Amino acid sequence: MSPFLDLPPLTAAEFAAIEDKVAALLHTTADVVVTQGEALLPLEAAIRGAAHPGSTALNIVTGPYGQTFGNWLRDCGAKVVDLVVPFETAVSAEQVAEALVAEPAVDFVSLVHAEAATGNTNPVAEIAAVVREHGALLMVDAVASVAAEPLLTDAWGVDLCVIGGQKAMGGPAGVSAVSVSARAWERIAANPAAPRRSYLSLLDWKERWTDAGRTALPHAPAQLEMLALGACLDRIAADGLDAVIARHRAAAAAVRAGVRALGTLAPFVPADAHAAPVATTLRAPDGLDATGLARELLQLDPSLPVQAGGGALAATMLRVNHYGAAAALGTVRATLTALATATAADAAPALTAADAAWGEAITAAH
Ligand SMILES: *Cc1c(COP(=O)(O)O)cnc(C)c1O
Repeated sequence: MSPFLDLPPLTAAEFAAIEDKVAALLHTTADVVVTQGEALLPLEAAIRGAAHPGSTALNIVTGPYGQTFGNWLRDCGAKVVDLVVPFETAVSAEQVAEALVAEPAVDFVSLVHAEAATGNTNPVAEIAAVVREHGALLMVDAVASVAAEPLLTDAWGVDLCVIGGQKAMGGPAGVSAVSVSARAWERIAANPAAPRRSYLSLLDWKERWTDAGRTALPHAPAQLEMLALGACLDRIAADGLDAVIARHRAAAAAVRAGVRALGTLAPFVPADAHAAPVATTLRAPDGLDATGLARELLQLDPSLPVQAGGGALAATMLRVNHYGAAAALGTVRATLTALATATAADAAPALTAADAAWGEAITAAH
């Protein structure tokens, strides 16, 4: 292969077509900005665009990303109310409603849909209804839920919906996207502290690209990452979004059923309804260090999508990242087989349970 990049530059029309495909994936007619960086870029851009001194934010913390959002909101001078729930559960719409009653000034709510790091998922539809009634803007981090769970941005009333390609979409990590509702544009445009002439400025993109008719790109796009994102959107459309979502649900159900049959580890998120389809987190048995267990599993099979939990969870949590191409029964079976070996359990009942749960989940989706 030639060491030179002899591809023609990505055209404005190709860039706009990719934005339109993302909008279709998110079930939105709102503007979509395909941001030229990893998903932390649009997450930070959305928060810095909306928050300012004098604004009050309800920051829902169900995993590590919520902590990051709280720090950005405080940095913007907003008053921040953190609603923190234990990471092995989901937040409920009732809890959000209570928090809004206690703090009527809330004008911005940040929420993570599915959490890959802790393995839980939140009921966005119900929460969005409560937030909308209150009149606040809702930002949802859907990086770990897009293509693994239904994501009905407009029907639910999500104002700022942020996605990345690197999880269930099985695509590139170097570009990401955010949909921006008309309400969100109004609030951001009215915010004197919103970034301008900045890499974090959504308003710059609106002015120089979206509102200018999407005919000339303001900067050279990340061409290879954009081509990869376009290809991944086409693949999801060809497979069918529902089928991709069903594969992720089936992988989570199969890992959970298999692990319960093994009996040596337990799902970190006990309630099936709170479990994310993108990754299953497991509690290591007493006396077994999760970091050591992850290392042993990878020695048995280097292709397994396993890692120890982050930060304080490194000793007790094992993550099975069954997203993208890893949302497959073969990957689930290989993971359970290695877990059986590493924890001296019988693999056969776990594989039987996993096969049954996989089949049931796929059938239920049809
Ligand atoms: C993966 C993920 C991101 C992207 O962040 P990285 O740390 O770069 O992987 C953002 N939000 C959530 C909820 C994620 O799971």
